[in-house]
Parts: sequence; structure tokens; C-alpha cells
Amino acid sequence: MSDDVRNLIIIGSGPSGYTAAIYAARANLNPLVFEGSVTAGGALMNTTDVENFPGFEDGIMGPELMDKLRAQAERFGAELITDDVTAVDLQGDIKTVSLADGKTYKAKAVVLAMGSGYRKLEVEGEDRLSGHGVSWCATCDGFFFREQNIVVVGGGDSALEEATFLTRFASKVTLVHRRGELRASKIMQDRAFANDKIEYAWNSEVAEIHGTDKLEGLTLRDTVTGELRKLDATGLFIAIGHDPRSELLKGQVELDDEGYVLVKPGTTETNVRGVFASGDLVDHTYRQAITAAGTGCAASLDAERYLADIE
Ligand code: FAD
Repeated sequence: MSDDVRNLIIIGSGPSGYTAAIYAARANLNPLVFEGSVTAGGALMNTTDVENFPGFEDGIMGPELMDKLRAQAERFGAELITDDVTAVDLQGDIKTVSLADGKTYKAKAVVLAMGSGYRKLEVEGEDRLSGHGVSWCATCDGFFFREQNIVVVGGGDSALEEATFLTRFASKVTLVHRRGELRASKIMQDRAFANDKIEYAWNSEVAEIHGTDKLEGLTLRDTVTGELRKLDATGLFIAIGHDPRSELLKGQVELDDEGYVLVKPGTTETNVRGVFASGDLVDHTYRQAITAAGTGCAASLDAERYLADIE
């Protein structure tokens, strides 16, 4: 156990965590960043071209962007530990963060930036073809699928929003849903039903994803009869929900019904003094690298002000 009390601990190394680290390091707060082990670098480590992060006119590969953010944080003196935080005690003036090996670290303030996980279909090929035809974000990747046949999986508001948005690019969008009716709100359904580019595969689930280097098609299974059928598609958008990584925060900070961290409107302050939250861990709505980076910056500035106030 280290008895040193740091100014700031940042948990997470996606665009939000690294941006918080860059700001905090440049403010001489000597932040300590826990990057996570398997998912260090965050969601963009699993994608190819990122064309909408400002400053890269020709686009940039997701992992390269994250390497740059990491190097920028290190350049100003952020200390990085590539390990998972397994427990936190955020109450009181001094916060404690623990790792699986029993090591603990203390700080006066903490930024939570653990992101959220996109739910997967758990079908073979899904991970391999991520960024090569398989996507979880229409805003991010729709542009790459002009005049193509796209499949969207899901039946809630997000799935219908993605499907409707994708008709701007696709020649056809097929919505694949396990049931015979949608969960989405009536207004979203009306909008989708009125769009003649959207077709529906009711009572269907994805049984197989085809393709080695890029998506070449799908096999659907009828959830009632078990019958299999091939579906022509070069794009697959999975819209079956997200899970904020807030497991270790239960009982520590206030979460909403879906497990997202609640912050005071217009700030990154949680209900616990000295604890700030940013990025997709907080965000139901935008879920973009730039918005995560933006709130990471805000969390760092909020933490900086808090630390100045308690001096
Ligand atoms: P994340 O990037 O998810 O990072 C969370 C971090 O927390 C990770 O580093 C993880 O290791 C760490 N962590 C979690 N738990 C712990 C723990 N217990 N201890 C230590 N560390 C922990 N957005 C765009 O703007 N443009 C795109 O083109 C784009 N493409 C995408 C493609 C894919 C395949 C995906 C999945 C997402 C894409 N997005 C894109 C969305 C974007 O990646 C996210 O909005 C953004 O990464 C969120 O940033 P974040 O920092 O909040 O969380």
C-alpha cells in the first residue's frame, strides 16, 4: 500500500480518461491514470478508421488516435498504470482505489471515465469483423456504407434511430428483430414504417456472420421455427444496448436506473464531493469520442477547481 496521497486519480484510458489526464498533467496535478488491462485505450482500440475526430482531415485509425492521446498525457507527466481498478472507497476527503493484487492508492479527487460496453450478439466473427463491416455506431460508420445493403439488429429506440439514419447512405436497411413487434416508442416506429428503404426480418436473430476480412453476408435463424436463411449484407450495425462500466461504483456514487453515473447538470460533479465523472459512463445520448474527450476535459477542470478550493 502506498501512503502517498495524490491530487488526482483518473480511472479509464479512453478519449475521456486521457483527455482528463492531459489537462490535469498540464495543470501540474501529477495525475495517476488506471488504464485498465484488456481494454486499455478504450472503445476505439477495436475500430479502424475514425473520420470524425476533429484535427485529422484524412481520418486516423482508432488505435493510432489512442496512442497519440496516451503519448500526449505522458508528455506532460501523467503516470499510467495498465491495470484494472477492482474496488473504490470514494467517501471522505481521501479516496482509495484498489487493484486485484491488493495494492491501494489514495487521492484527494477522482475522475471516473470507465466508459460503457456495447452489448454484443456473441456470434463468431463479430469481433474479427469489427471495423470491417460490423459496427456499433451509425453516426461513426454510416458514411462508409453508401449504396450498400445494411442490417441493423435490435428493436428499441436506438435500433430504429440507427436504421432510419442509415437510410441516408444505404440502398436498403433490414431491421432484424427477435420478436414479431418492436419495443421502440410509437413515434420512432411510425417514422421507420414510413421509410420505404427499411425492411423487417421479424422473429429473426443472427445465427452466422460470414466473411474473413470483411463482412460478406449473414445467416438468420427464425426464432419461432428455427429455420435458417441467408441475407445479403455488407454492413451489420448492432443496436441492442450498452452497459455502463459502473459495477464497482454501486453504493459509492449515485447511478441512474440503467447504471450510468449521475452528474449535476452542466458539470461533471457526482453526488460525492471530489468525485467527477465523464465520457460514456455518464452519457446516454451522444457517445462519441469527441464528446467523451470534451467531458473528460471538463472533469479535469472541475477537479482542479475542487482541489484549489480545499487547499
Ligand atoms: P471508453 O473509450 O470506453 O474507455 C473506457 C476506459 O475505461 C477503457 O480504457 C477501459 O480500459 C477503462 N476501464 C474500464 N473499467 C476500468 C477499471 N475497472 N479499471 C481501470 N480502467 C477501466 N466515436 C467516434 O467519435 N468516432 C468513431 O468513429 C467511433 N467509432 C467507434 C467504433 C467502435 C467499434 C466503437 C465500439 C465505438 C466507436 N465510437 C466512435 C464511440 C467512441 O469510441 C466512444 O464514444 C468513446 O470511446 C467513449 O470514450 P470513454 O473514454 O468514455 O470510454
